[in-house]
Amino acid sequence: MNGTRVGNRVIGAQSPVTVGWENVPKVVGGPVKQFVFTWFQPAVLFALIAFWYYAPNSIAKASTAIGIGIGFKALLLALEWVNPRFDSWRLTWKEACTDLFYVGLGYTLLRIVDGYVGSDAVAEYLQDAMHWDKLTWFMTLPLLVQAFLISFTFDFGQYWMHRGMHNFHPLWLTHAPHHYITQLNINKGAVGNPVELFLIGLGVGGFFDFLPRAALLAGTLGLAVGTYQHVNVRFNSPRWWRFLFNTTEHHSVHHSQDFEASRSNYSGTWIVIDRMFGTCVDGEAELLGMEGGRRMSIQETMVYPFAEGWKSFKQRAGRLGRSDGDEAMAVPAE
Ligand SMILES: [Zn+2]
Ligand SMILES: [Zn+2]
Repeated sequence: MNGTRVGNRVIGAQSPVTVGWENVPKVVGGPVKQFVFTWFQPAVLFALIAFWYYAPNSIAKASTAIGIGIGFKALLLALEWVNPRFDSWRLTWKEACTDLFYVGLGYTLLRIVDGYVGSDAVAEYLQDAMHWDKLTWFMTLPLLVQAFLISFTFDFGQYWMHRGMHNFHPLWLTHAPHHYITQLNINKGAVGNPVELFLIGLGVGGFFDFLPRAALLAGTLGLAVGTYQHVNVRFNSPRWWRFLFNTTEHHSVHHSQDFEASRSNYSGTWIVIDRMFGTCVDGEAELLGMEGGRRMSIQETMVYPFAEGWKSFKQRAGRLGRSDGDEAMAVPAE
């Protein structure tokens, strides 16, 4: 983070970032409110784990998971209204309408991809191509260990894909539109260019249609932790939670207008992966976005990777052309 440290804030060239948990504000309110916003996150996480651990086979399926996901997001939407992290992130009608478009698009694409991946032909191919017998050691592990390993491996892939997106220009072009959001709220995870969804899918590896129970438990970790990345709710998350898991605070630093600060907190669920590789910044930011918070239209978001990619390609070709001597030729010989 470039800039000068003033009190508890680092004043960058563009925007301030609060660094250190001791400087992040606590929930304001009476003991009941303090209790609720301290224990909400762990209570939901443990309740969901218990549900998937004990649920009978008849209800332990993907459609139940989707239903829980929708209910959980509706609950968080209510909490955003009751106890927002920043008033400047409050939902406006304009924001809500554009968010709705991206959420709708995301669900539509998911349905299409699922139609292919979930098809019998793909399932048959996987059963033939994979040597399932080599995975028996995995299936003998306790269920919760299996779930942890799936979740961690999944997030490890996502960490490197996300970090790659911030360091390799062609990949960045697909991810950049997501960084033009100027506030965090429950639907912001869906905002971005659809090509990115596909790349995140690759970083993740789609190999776990086996062992539904462990996969559902891993999925619930993603839901009960990863969802907070884009949420406008102030929580007093317990210290162990902030050490292990990604939080809104971490992800707000990642979205901050300060370039240096944004090169941090790449993981989706397990912030310990960032701690392992030295990219974790504990803190929070309010001013988010790119180019000082310019709002990117839906239209620009859809064409951005292609339009910008073409621009970069032409610039590169232009530079190569000049080094071939075109420019020298243009200089009048005196
Ligand atoms: Zn990013
Ligand atoms: Zn984000």
